Order: sequence, then structure tokens, then C-alpha cells
Amino acid sequence: MARKKKASRVVVVGSANVDLTTFTDRMPHAGETMFGSRFDLGFGGKGANQAVAAALCGARVHLVARVGDDLFGPATIENLEARGVGTREVKTVKGVGSGVAPIFVEPSGQNRILVVKGANDSLTPKAVEKAASLLKRADVILLQLEIPLETVYYTIRFARKNDLRVILNPAPAAPLSLEQLSGVSYLIPNEIEAEAISLKSVTTIGDALESAKELVARGFPRVVLTLGERGAILAGADGAQHLPASKVETVDTTGAGDAFIGSFAAFLGAGVPETEAVERANLYAALSTTSVGTQKSFVSRKRFDRSWRALREGKKKPAAS
Ligand code: ADP
Repeated sequence: MARKKKASRVVVVGSANVDLTTFTDRMPHAGETMFGSRFDLGFGGKGANQAVAAALCGARVHLVARVGDDLFGPATIENLEARGVGTREVKTVKGVGSGVAPIFVEPSGQNRILVVKGANDSLTPKAVEKAASLLKRADVILLQLEIPLETVYYTIRFARKNDLRVILNPAPAAPLSLEQLSGVSYLIPNEIEAEAISLKSVTTIGDALESAKELVARGFPRVVLTLGERGAILAGADGAQHLPASKVETVDTTGAGDAFIGSFAAFLGAGVPETEAVERANLYAALSTTSVGTQKSFVSRKRFDRSWRALREGKKKPAAS
């Protein structure tokens, strides 16, 4: 019988935001006040989202983040705790607002988004230094680009010095110093972010394979390039392979990237072999697209395990006998 896998320790150094989604028939003109049709408040931020996905997949997760001293600060911490994410290093910054994302959605689905970084901008290298003991015990450290870049670079240097595994999700796309990224174990971009770093356009799966190989050539030992409904590319010095997405009834892809990265970190940290960790992340992210919302659409480990078993059983069946 297979040995029970250990729970992985994942530490996310990243953002926490509150998404303020307002649905309206049209945008108001300058100086006009009008009624919107619906409002939804959701917890977001790539750091928090990925932490929640990893925790739901069974990892022991801590988030290193900053929230504002407003109504949203305590609510963000409460939400993280309710979802099993450790908040010892989620601190409140006095006199600063929480990170928020006012989102306006019109009936056509067209959306307009403003991100106000607020307290996320106060996550300095010093904050990471204070969380050093936590970071040193991590199987995987997860980073994105919604916090100051100097903090991202500092965390990578810290990980390199302490021989820790770091996954960088270079999102949202931003100009980066490749030199400062040396020490990243896994780079996980989507198509747009891969284009920004590899300087190769990604349209076909062939392009994606080339772009991933280029990223390896630029110094990233392992690359996982996510391709939406086409799955992901896994690449390293030994070559690149395409791992197709799981087929599901998709209704909303918001947060699929975060579901993929958080779950991949949890599986990899638990000792699941790399290729299988990508296959599992493909399924976990696909399941998140079958309902509406970001964190709200992330499924439980139990639900994931059921679907994973079904997928495996399906694969074992002899082809059309
Ligand atoms: P992002 O949200 O960052 O743009 P992607 O769109 O590449 O990221 O999606 C991340 C992952 O989510 C994909 O690699 C895939 O595993 C899964 N996924 C996304 N959209 C779909 C879909 N329509 N059907 C199945 N899986 C999907």
C-alpha cells in the first residue's frame, strides 16, 4: 500500500486584497450618481488566494502579508483563519488602508478594475526578515508580484542562502531583473507573463514549448507555463512536455491560475513527483472553473481526491473495447 504523504509546509509571502465587485447596467457619467444592480464583496489578492488553495489541498500554510487598520483588515484575517491559513505574520499597518480592488461589471461581462495596493506596499524586506524562522521551516515558499519588488528579491536571496525551494508566479507581468531572480526553483507564468520574460510570443502549444525552453535557457531550472484550457507546459534542462487540461464544464475562470499554483505548491511540498503535481494542479484548477468566484470556487481536498480517483480510474480503463 502506498505510504501516506506528509503534509507540506507552505509559506506565501504575498498580497491580500478585498475585491469590491459592483454590477451595473452602465458606467455613470462624470458627475452622475446612479443605482448599481448588485454588489459582491470577496477576499482576494494573489498571495491570499494561493495560500487558501494550498491549505485546502492539505498543506500547512502561513501567509506573510500586511493589511490596513480599516474594516477590511480584521475581516481578511478572519477569512484566512477560517480557511486554515496561519496568520501569525499577517500584521496590521497603522494609518493605511487595506489593499482593495474595486471592480465594475457591465451586463456584457465587460469589466473595469482598479487595484489600490494600500497595506500590501508596506510588506518590506524587514517583514520577511521577521518571519525568518517560519520561512526556514518551509518545504515551499511562494511569491507573486503584488508586493514591493525589493521584497520579492530579498525573499529569493534569503531562500538561496538557506537552500529553500521557491516558486515565483511573476504576476501581474512587470519588468524584472533576471539576475535578482537567480535562486528561483520554479517559475510559473501564464502565457502573457511568459511572453514578457522570454520575449517570445505564445499562441500555439509549439510556441509555448519554445517559450518555456527559452525561460530555462534564461536561468530558471524548472518552468511551468500555464495555458488556460490547454493545460500547462513543464520544462527543465531535460526538455519540455505538454500536460493537457482536465475537461470540465467551465463557467468562470477567475482565480484558476491561483488555484493551480497554490495546489501545485501543496502537492510538490508533500513529495508528489513533479509531473504528477502538475497533473493534479491541472485538475484542481479545472475544478475551480466549474463555479463562480475566486476563493469561493476552490474545492475541498475531499472533492479533489474524488475527482482525481475518477480521472485515474478512467485512464486505467482499456481504450474502446
Ligand atoms: P491565469 O488565470 O493566471 O491566466 P491560466 O488561464 O493559464 O492562468 O489557468 C491556469 C490553469 O487553470 C491552467 O493551466 C489549467 O490547468 C486551468 N484552467 C484554466 N482554464 C481552464 C478551462 N477552461 N478548463 C480546464 N482547465 C482550465
